[in-house]
This record gives sequence, C-alpha cells and structure tokens, in this order.
Amino acid sequence: MIRITDILDRISSYNSNADLDLVERAYIYSARIHEGQVRLSGEPYLSHPLEVAGLLTMLKLDPVSVAAGLLHDALEDTKATMEDLTGLFGPSVAHIVEGVTKISGLAFRSYEDRQAESIRKMILAMADDIRVILIKLCDRLHNMRTLQFQSEEKQIKIAQETLDIYAPLASRLGIHWMRMELEDIAFMYLFPHQYRDIANQVAKKRDEQQEYINTIKKMIEEKLEEADLPCAVQGRHKHFYGIYQKMINQGVDFEEVYDILAFRLILDSTSQCYQAVGVIHSIWKPIPKRFKDFIGIPKPNMYQSLHTTVVGPFGERVEIQIRTKEMDHVANDGIAAHWQYKEKGNFDEKTGAAFAWLRKLVEEQKNIKDPDEFMESVQIELFPDEVYVFTPRGDVLGLPKESTPVDFAYAIHTEVGHQCAGAKVDGRMVPIKYELKTGQRVEIITSPNHQPSKDWLSFVKTAKARSRVRQHIKAKERKQSMTLGREMCDKLFRKYHVTLNKYIKSGEIQKAVDELGYKTVDDLIAGVGYGKVTPLQVARYVLPQAEAKDEKETIVTRLKEKIRGRKPQSGILVRGMDDILVRFGKCCSPLPGDPVVGYITRGQGVTAHRTNCPHALNMDPQRRIELEWSPDAEEVYPVRIHVLCDDRMGLLAFITTAISEGDANILDATVKIRADNRADCYFTISVSGANHLEKIVKSVKSIKHVVKVTRLAT
Ligand code: MN
Repeated sequence: MIRITDILDRISSYNSNADLDLVERAYIYSARIHEGQVRLSGEPYLSHPLEVAGLLTMLKLDPVSVAAGLLHDALEDTKATMEDLTGLFGPSVAHIVEGVTKISGLAFRSYEDRQAESIRKMILAMADDIRVILIKLCDRLHNMRTLQFQSEEKQIKIAQETLDIYAPLASRLGIHWMRMELEDIAFMYLFPHQYRDIANQVAKKRDEQQEYINTIKKMIEEKLEEADLPCAVQGRHKHFYGIYQKMINQGVDFEEVYDILAFRLILDSTSQCYQAVGVIHSIWKPIPKRFKDFIGIPKPNMYQSLHTTVVGPFGERVEIQIRTKEMDHVANDGIAAHWQYKEKGNFDEKTGAAFAWLRKLVEEQKNIKDPDEFMESVQIELFPDEVYVFTPRGDVLGLPKESTPVDFAYAIHTEVGHQCAGAKVDGRMVPIKYELKTGQRVEIITSPNHQPSKDWLSFVKTAKARSRVRQHIKAKERKQSMTLGREMCDKLFRKYHVTLNKYIKSGEIQKAVDELGYKTVDDLIAGVGYGKVTPLQVARYVLPQAEAKDEKETIVTRLKEKIRGRKPQSGILVRGMDDILVRFGKCCSPLPGDPVVGYITRGQGVTAHRTNCPHALNMDPQRRIELEWSPDAEEVYPVRIHVLCDDRMGLLAFITTAISEGDANILDATVKIRADNRADCYFTISVSGANHLEKIVKSVKSIKHVVKVTRLAT
C-alpha cells in the first residue's frame, strides 16, 4: 500500500510550492471517516483513496485534486456532508468530490455501441471540472486492479463498462498508459481464453522479439550515427487488447499482427528528420505509397511526424515514425488526440475540438505554477450546446441545449411526440416547455386524444420535433379545409337543387379537377377550402346552368385576378402550406415585420391582419391560421402616417425631404391647419416593411417642431 509520505514527496517533486498541508489534512480526515471500513480484499478501506491519490500524482495533478482523490468516496460511503468538506477543505475540493459522487451514481442500462458515445458525453457534460474525470479514471483504474475480489457478475459488468466508457475516455484525454492498462485488465475478465492465448504467445515470443527489436534498433542507430544524425530509437510492444483488436478488425492471426513492428525515431530538428528518412530508405526498400509527410502537412489536430513502411533485413514489414522531441510530446500527451485518427468517424468536429482543448489543458497543467490559474482553466463546460438525459429504461439520449420534454418525446417516437400531454422529470411533473438538464430522467405522459399544438413550434429545439409538428398541423389543416370546401360547394350546389356527391360519384367532377389543375377530387375540395378556387368555378365545369349566370362571380374573379396580380406569395407565407392566396386586411394594412395572423375567409383564401387589429380579434378562432413573413419579400406596401407639427414656414418641405431620403415614395399627402397653430399632415407612403417605416418615423420625429408621428390603420 502506498503511504501518504510517498504521495507528498511526489507532489513536491513536480510542484515545489504545493499546499501539502491540504493533502495531509485530507488524508487524516479520510482515515478518520473510513475508520473500521474494509475493502472486499480485506484491506482497510483507506488503501483505496490512498492508491487513487497516488495515481493522481502520476498525472502530476495539483494538491486540490489529490486531496479530492483522498476524499472521493467520503460523500457516498461515510457520514461526511458537503458542508463538512466545504468547511474543512474549501469549495473546490468539495465540489470535485460531489462531481465524482454524481458520476458514480449514474446507472446505465447498457453500453452498446449506440449508447456508449452518449454515455461518455453525459459523463463529461456532468463534470464541470475536468479533475472530476481524472479522479474518476484513477478510481476506476484502482478498482480494476483489485477486481479479483468482486463477484463474477460484477467483474463482467465493471469490465465491460471500463472497456466501453472509461478506457476511451482515458484515450481521449491522452493518458495512453492508463487506457492500455484499463483495456488489458478488462480484456482479461471479458475474454479470458483469448487473453490467455495472446499472453502465452507473447511470452513465448518475447525473447525472440526483444532480440529482434534490439537488432533493428542497433542497425538504425549505427546507420544514423554514420550520417551524423544523433537519434533515440524506440521499439514498441503492443498491448494485449491492441493485438486482439487488430486480429479481429483485420481478420488476421496472431503472427501477422505481432510480427509487424513499429519503431520510432526521435531527432533534434526537422531537417534531421528528413535526412533520417533518406538514410532509412537507402538501407531498406520502402513500400510504395506508405511514406507520409505529416511534418510538411500536419494533421488538423497538430500531429506531426514522418511515416514510412520498409521491408526489413529479414523480409518483414517494419513501420517507422520519425519526428522531433516536441512533435513526440504533442503526439503522446498533447493536443494530437489519438482518437482523432484511430477512432475517426465516431466523433463530429465540434466534439473533436472539445477534446483537443481538454487534452491541451491536461498537458498544460503540468507546467502551471499558480494553482489558481489552473483552477480557472479547469472549470469548464464541455458540451455547452448539448444536454444528455435518461429515458425511463436508463438509456442516454443527447439533445440540443434548451430541449424540452416535447423534443425528448419526438426523439423517442413520433407517436409519443404527437400524444405528449405532460412530462415528469426525476419523478416530478414539469410543464412541457421545461428546459431539460444533463443527468435528468425524463418520462413522457401520453394521452391518445392529445394532439400537437401550434405553439409547440415556438419552443421545440430539435429539427425532428419541429418537422413532425408541422406535418401534423398541415395534415390537420388540410382536413379542415376539406370540410370547409365541401361545405361551401354543397351550399352552392343546393341552389341548383343538386348535390356535389352526385358529380363525384358519376366522375363528372373530374373535368373540374383537370381544368383547375388539381390532382385529385380531394385536392380540389381542399383548394376550395383554402380559397384558391371558388365553388362557382367548380360548378361551372359540371353544371351548365351555372355558366356566366352569377354576376357576383365575375366581380370575385376580377378581384381575385387583381389580388393574384399582387403575387400573394411574395410577402407572406402560410406556415406549412404552399401557394395560398393571401390578402391584406384593409382595416390594419400589415407591413412585413408586423406580427400577423391569418383568417380563412369563405371563398377568398386567407386574409392577413396585424395581431392587434380589432377586426382580427373578433374573428372565429376556428378559422385562425398562422402566418409568417417571407424573409425575401421585396415588395413595397402603402401605409398611412399622421404627423402633428407646429405650423411653420418650410416645415412641410423638411418632412417630405426626410421621407424621400428614407427611400420611401410619397403616394399622397394632405395638410390641415388647426386652430391651435398646429398642422395635421397625412401622408400615404410606400415602405418595404415595419423596420423601414420605423426608420422613417424616427427621422421625421427628429425634425424640429414635429410634435408627434403616428401610424394609421387606414
Ligand atoms: Mn472509489
């Protein structure tokens, strides 16, 4: 068992100003609270936090981390409270211990591939301080080293979790020795036969291979020395699980994996690296297309090295990497994240950037002298744009930040989304607009009669939820307009003492469908409901007596033509529907940018009103429809404004100049002098939208002697 004095010595060796007192006090406190507890191994419990602290010193972490490591099980397994820890060791230590405890408390259902990535991200997202992860990794490593004392069932579960979650985390943080050890121990428990097989074969071959490594090493060193290129040569052994993975992934046997050796040449300068590769190629034949120059063209993660594969002295393939000390440093522990090229495809770019940044941090903390400086840089939000939550089954689901239970419901299943009537988060009822947080358990309450509502669109965050809600509303509106269209046609047909149904049954309606440019009868009837065609237009094709009879029809047609001339689609869009006839309410003259609402008018499509228009407020809510302004509207719209000003010479000229300079045309102007020596001016001007109007109103207002400027409804 490691002793506290060893730990203190190690800290001083890499940080001479370290607050050793904090670590010592944490040790004494930990010993007291864990007093009498024993590990499954029979050792005193204290051995575990001590070993974890020891591992933390191998990562050269600061005293706060080491103290937190000594206390990492305090909240879970002893009577100690957050208040105790905060009071005795300060908020940082307490906060980190709390973070480790939270992660340890997460219960995941499975670690299948599909889930593993989300779980890793959830763990990272929950740790707002990277030291939490580092302590958790050291905790896991010591637990793996002592896994033999657990039940077989637990051994399998813990080993699987380690292989799927913690080893990749260690890898991404650039702690390769830890990743390899975690993988090899997990491998031993999960695939004991394969492990023993590989271990035996490696043992059998080890001497032979070591001899081979030495031979090659010597040859390279001699040749490079001749060329005056001092260099360190490293021959690498592969770890057991690495060999196993290569065998599985490439479908090859042990010999083939094991026999390919990789050597690394470390030189002083970049130019020496290029000279060295020349020397290597002159002694051994390079394999075509295997030379890669990552010094000239570094990988995006800053990895730099020359790679080549040659045919070695015994006809075998030898992989050689050549780089400088600095490049090696970056490749091993630094920014160049191993996973970025070995596990390509698992990660999106943004996550990659987060990890690269993290690794840099781990790297840099080794050089930071001031502990406060380190602390500031480790308190981070790793995935600021995402949240990770649990399903009731215990699966982890990643969603964009600020996602709501409705987003969650649609992520589970479209039907669950449609029927989402409410939600529980960690067992408590919440509003469906509730903003989900990482680590929460979400349960959706469904009701078969429930339907998505339009205002869900105002708060859902996922594209899936948005498009599903839109689709649903569109379908619903189509149904509504079909009912409406049917009603309108029936009413007209009754005038001629016939029914629409008769013509549908006989197929005679098809003529109207074709002539009016629809695909099906239903489309035509919906078209009537939407106001794109009038019932009379339909009737004309099936009822000869309707032809040219109704004078009103011609007026309507003319009006429609006129409105169509205004290109109804140009300014306004009906959400979820295309090509709908939209008119503008004369009562309130909406401008682009004004909040608007639409009403389905009988036979005349949709009329747009400003949301605060008194006419609009009185209309039948059943006919209400959501509208939005088209972002690329280029039309101009007339609007009337009233300017109250003092009756001064030349003032009108100032006002009209201000309007013209604001790029608006004056369509009409009237001025009335009042008894109080003031003037009422009325202008009709053309503007492109509410913002444009606002600008003009502002500039008119700023003219001296102008008292008030108001927008008029008509
Ligand atoms: Mn522990």
